[in-house]
Amino acid sequence: MTRVQMIGVSKRYPGRGKGAAQVVAVDDVSIDVASGEIHAIIGYSGAGKSTLLRLVNGLERASSGRILVGDDEITSLPEARLRAVRGRIGMIFQQFNLFHSKRVSKNVEYPLVVAGVSPAERKRRVAELLDFVGLGDKAEAYTDQLSGGQKQRVGIARALATNPGVLLADEATSALDPQTSQEVLALLKRVNDEFGITIILITHEMEVVRGIADRVTVMDGGRAVEQGGVFDVFSSPQTTTTRRFVSSALPTEPQAEHLEQLRERHRGRLVTLTFRDGDVDQPVVFRTLAERGVGVSIVHGGVTDVGGRSFGKLTLELIGDDLRVEHAIAALAQETDLEVLV
Ligand code: ADP
Repeated sequence: MTRVQMIGVSKRYPGRGKGAAQVVAVDDVSIDVASGEIHAIIGYSGAGKSTLLRLVNGLERASSGRILVGDDEITSLPEARLRAVRGRIGMIFQQFNLFHSKRVSKNVEYPLVVAGVSPAERKRRVAELLDFVGLGDKAEAYTDQLSGGQKQRVGIARALATNPGVLLADEATSALDPQTSQEVLALLKRVNDEFGITIILITHEMEVVRGIADRVTVMDGGRAVEQGGVFDVFSSPQTTTTRRFVSSALPTEPQAEHLEQLRERHRGRLVTLTFRDGDVDQPVVFRTLAERGVGVSIVHGGVTDVGGRSFGKLTLELIGDDLRVEHAIAALAQETDLEVLV
């Protein structure tokens, strides 16, 4: 079981070209990843995610701040010791980073050879790992004969070979189609459930976060701008960056142009209700409307699953005479998170 602590971590690069300002790729970031947690780091391209991951596995040195992986302080270990610690940090990549001219079994065996494990033990371990990732029958295939999803399974088997306490995933599903992505995510979830391995994954895909992460950090311009449980962060985003991410994957209220189209087709009042798991009772909403003689059509939005809880935004057209609709809106506003659109 391995906890990962990043404490006030920064990474500055010299500017390119004479007199150019230095680049602050990671700016005073603190993330405390509990052992056994799946922590997602999301952000747009250039936010500093990959740099942060390279600092965690010691491929690059932080300019300031501290990083601890278990009891090992990555930021102060000499290079020779770092190599041993890296054996306890598995890594998987968007482009898989496999040896294409080698057989699947040789790819998975590689870190065991580097670690000096005996041939008999290597053979046993490779067979066990390939069974775990569902590729028991592909040991002798060459990796370039495999599909993308199979290649990533080999990548995962290889990353697990030395029994790491932490797995770092760098856009691990971004090169895969949605169905294959889901399969690889399910496999990562099994890695976490069955072995208690802490997983830190960086991604720009909301589906990844929504599907398997426990907690999330949102990065923007090198800084961690928002952090918390996936449900809490996504159901009440505090920053523009997070709101933009959320709107790409979760139901939203209709945006300006769409609202105009809705307005043309629906003459009643339009309201958006936000449902956060547990705090609004949907039957109460519909009963309140029925009791006040107000008709309702759902015109936009939906309810979806976020971190195992439900979240939704529904835009309703309220139909009835003006006074009844006003009363219904007043009653709903007492019980729900309600926004009157028009
Ligand atoms: P992300 O993974 O979120 O796309 P990166 O960590 O790759 O972001 O990059 C963050 C910022 O740091 C970018 O502005 C990038 O240009 C800069 N950067 C990354 N690596 C280097 C480097 N080796 N030298 C100079 N600038 C770098």
